[in-house]
Amino acid sequence: MIGDLQAAMLGTPEISVVVPMHNEEGSVEELARQLRQALPEAHEVIFVDDGSTDRTWPRLLGIHDPDRVRVVKLRVRSGKSAALMAGFARCKAPVVFTLDGDLQDDPAEIPKFLSKLAEGHDLVSGWKRVRHDPLHKVAASRVFNFVMRHATGLQLRDMNCGFKCYRSEVVKRLRIHGDQHRFIPVFAADAGFSVAEVEVRHRPRVHGRSKYGLSRMAKGFADLGTVLLRTRYKDRPAHGFGLLAIAAGVSGIFLLLLSAGRFLPGLAAFAAEALGAALVVCAPVLIAAGWVAEFLLHCQAVGRKPELPEVEQARD
Ligand code: UDP
Ligand code: MG
Repeated sequence: MIGDLQAAMLGTPEISVVVPMHNEEGSVEELARQLRQALPEAHEVIFVDDGSTDRTWPRLLGIHDPDRVRVVKLRVRSGKSAALMAGFARCKAPVVFTLDGDLQDDPAEIPKFLSKLAEGHDLVSGWKRVRHDPLHKVAASRVFNFVMRHATGLQLRDMNCGFKCYRSEVVKRLRIHGDQHRFIPVFAADAGFSVAEVEVRHRPRVHGRSKYGLSRMAKGFADLGTVLLRTRYKDRPAHGFGLLAIAAGVSGIFLLLLSAGRFLPGLAAFAAEALGAALVVCAPVLIAAGWVAEFLLHCQAVGRKPELPEVEQARD
């Protein structure tokens, strides 16, 4: 409480909240009210209007308050990741929250995140155990989270919950664009930050519509390769491409043997042969792509100071 008062007197917020909004006119005032109620006195909320075409922006201007509520409008719709980056760049507090602008996340749960952060974590991500979304969306999310856990090794049950709490060091390090907000915990864990999860209540969407259709699944998996290259293979891309080359080569040879063995009827044998040959040809191309990536890394390093790994402690 004293810390709260001190921070308020000094004008520095204790907590910054970033809310991305695209066409959420129906939620603006109610969300601002719920946030005000849930947050300590020394806070700031940054609403980022991601190129809305409805009345979101005039409504945000209506709740603007220079001491507590800042509003930012992106010139064109740039995506949720870009909207979050625009908000992060303006945060002043040591603790940063993000939550969706559609009232599906409940600000009353903020203290739960803070207690978890106080256990020594750097990023606390929400886990929407019971989701109030259409069935196809819930099913897609379950598959996505299952694949992500196995592909990245990060044991989170809900990678893509918009409700998250960070130490400001984490958001300063984040570089995300496109739809990469889905992988924030992976990037944070890769940078050495401790990531934890808390169960949150999820509310049904009352106003407006979801901004993502079924294509989210295909996009999420397409991004997975980029994420693995940016994390596990960031300093050894040839290894990532090499693994893909082995997978393509082995499955190509398998298909060629299958088509040669006369186990398949005419058209299927032809298809297996054609696909097998294509995969075998892909293998050396993938290896070459890995070498090009390694060479680009090298070119980037030439003429610059050597990029040394981040040191946590040293007694030189
Ligand atoms: N959003 C955004 N830009 C976009 C898409 C979404 O700012 O291009 C915001 C949106 O207004 C909401 C949040 O990101 O506040 C999550 O979007 P949505 O609720 O549509 O996602 P879902 O709950 O369906 O996963
Ligand atoms: Mg939503």
